[in-house]
Amino acid sequence: MTPPATTAPLTGRARAAAWATLAVGGLSRRLKMGSGSVVGGRVGLALEPDLLARLGRGRTAALVTGTNGKTTTTRLLVSALGGTGRVATNAVGSNLPAGLAAALAAAPGLRAVLEVDEGYLGRAKEALEPEVVVLLNLSRDQLDRVSEVRMVAGRFREALAGFDDGTVVANADDPLVVWGASTAPKVYWVGAGQLWRSDAVGCPACDGPVTFEPGGVGWSSGCGLRRPDPVLSLDGDDVVDAAGRRRPLRLSLPGRFNRANAVMALAAAEVLGVDMAGALSAMAHVGDVEGRFSVVTSGTVQARLLLAKNPAGWTELLDLLEGGDEPVVIGINARIADGHDPSWLWDVAFERLAGRHVVATGERARDLAVRLRYAGVSHAVVDDQLDALAASGARRVEYVGNYTAFQDLRRRLAERPGRPRQTEPPAPVLRAFRPAAAVPVARQPAETTGSAGQKRRRRLSDGVSALRVVVVHPDLLGTYGDAGNGRVVAARAAWRGASVELLLASSGRPLPAAGDLYLLGGGEDGPELQAGAELASSPLGQAVAQGAVMLGVCAGYQLLGTSFPDATGASRPGLGFLDVRTFKGPGRRAVGELLAEPLASSPLHEALTGFENHSGHTQLGQQVAPLANVRHGIGNGDGTEGAWSGNVFGTYLHGPVLARNPAFADLLLARATGEAPLALDDDEERALRTERLGAVQHPAWRRVRVRRP
Ligand code: GLN
Repeated sequence: MTPPATTAPLTGRARAAAWATLAVGGLSRRLKMGSGSVVGGRVGLALEPDLLARLGRGRTAALVTGTNGKTTTTRLLVSALGGTGRVATNAVGSNLPAGLAAALAAAPGLRAVLEVDEGYLGRAKEALEPEVVVLLNLSRDQLDRVSEVRMVAGRFREALAGFDDGTVVANADDPLVVWGASTAPKVYWVGAGQLWRSDAVGCPACDGPVTFEPGGVGWSSGCGLRRPDPVLSLDGDDVVDAAGRRRPLRLSLPGRFNRANAVMALAAAEVLGVDMAGALSAMAHVGDVEGRFSVVTSGTVQARLLLAKNPAGWTELLDLLEGGDEPVVIGINARIADGHDPSWLWDVAFERLAGRHVVATGERARDLAVRLRYAGVSHAVVDDQLDALAASGARRVEYVGNYTAFQDLRRRLAERPGRPRQTEPPAPVLRAFRPAAAVPVARQPAETTGSAGQKRRRRLSDGVSALRVVVVHPDLLGTYGDAGNGRVVAARAAWRGASVELLLASSGRPLPAAGDLYLLGGGEDGPELQAGAELASSPLGQAVAQGAVMLGVCAGYQLLGTSFPDATGASRPGLGFLDVRTFKGPGRRAVGELLAEPLASSPLHEALTGFENHSGHTQLGQQVAPLANVRHGIGNGDGTEGAWSGNVFGTYLHGPVLARNPAFADLLLARATGEAPLALDDDEERALRTERLGAVQHPAWRRVRVRRP
């Protein structure tokens, strides 16, 4: 192993700033205000803005970034390099400049392994001139803060162009990572695998489709972007090198995703001169990473603590939970570090938890409860996270929290060491809900031709002819959880006794012509363009002419209009079903809670609540009417929100909109069937609406705006 490099002497100012970083951090810890790394680092950076570069000078550094697995991979790499006593690292996960500065100030002279927020890779790389940059994976996460995933990958490209002095270790199985890394002169490709592919269906380089080899690992795009040959790969429980040599990967950490993290860490360790056998045995002992995967006792309950904060993370975690029968307690918050929009819950296949009891908890438990209701998962809502652990009455539970929910629970557990919390499980705040089974979803349209008109105006209750709900190109227009709209309308029709077909109609295949209800969701600029090109020659126009009901959300709304902007801002022709045109809005991207009151002329009569996240502004023509007036947020950009004409509706609301506004779902169903739907027990939706309508009045929301990158 190479010895730690010695640090170049600090200037007087940098020395004072480093001292202040540690002193303020220490004080904050003594006052029990947290780990102290952020506040300390902020003070240090205020005194010496160049502190990161000064503290990094002369030492070897590895930076770890990506959407999921940063903290664990960093921890594994630290172990491979000799453990925390011999490496400077931000173990608690403070991965913005202040946290990085604090980690370096705390361990002068030592080699550094630092996890870095995806948005700060460029700045950290400039300051620290690392030997290794590890790119794990990229997927939708905190979209309100980082905008669109392709934009993050684009920033990686800028940051890594001309990176001659170091090596990028990158996951060859993630097309967004490959595109992001491919400006770097030296890349060590790793076949770490990636279960979640939904953010890379559209090629980041050319906007064409990416084709994944069925059942295999290969993928390619028409423009030539393809899976590079990896030097090191994960194959089951083994690591395989380019020469085909296999080594067993023995980890204390559970799950495929941790084996993937370990292979990435192994490659980085190799670049830093650590022999593979030594690195493997050092990593085998890591069993708990900042509380993740640990088993804790709270009262009489033993809980395994797991963290999942986005659909990609949940996809891996659902595999890990498979086969168990313990209740699952799920904590969801939506603070800055989580992302303010939990619409992503609709991209998680919670249907896989059917048959298990779930307790929804955390600050956004109500969003989760509505999601579970439509997933057909029996659940209860318990606001307090510690109470939630006890609520199922079981002795062992699995706890899965997103970022701040997880941190909160750990803090609460630490404050009450070993003290039994309750003897009796508390009564859930809402009743346990046992919904009817979720509606089956077909990914492959059963039939692609036929006339919508022949079958339209069926009665929901006749039970003979199926109501056909088509989610249009969820692979391209599904980034913001809007495919959930399909689940909502289909379930609401089914619960009323109708027979329903829910079709997820991916791009690249003929779109079913005989749909009764077509739903288009939000998407990134590139995939929006791709969907627009494909839909121009689809049977959607014919379906509209025959009176099919249509709802477009955000990108989907923009596409229904006469023109919309591409990523460069250039105007592109839309489908022309609504007399609206969209252009890039002035100033900041519109991001935050949106609340709008229906106009007297609108077919909707209840306030609309949801979350918006768009750069486009939409101008309404003579042939359409707005859906509502904006009370809070941006909407169309002129004080109105959405548009409608006949049976075609457009809105900027995510949430998904039909989950947060069931009256809107029922309006679409009424239009599609010609009959007024019976009332349903919507207690959980109402509880969510009440909470959101209350939250939006809070002044904090006025601050939730991010700049257009
Ligand atoms: N990419 C489009 C915009 O930024 C749509 C975004 C979305 O669908 N949320 O305006």
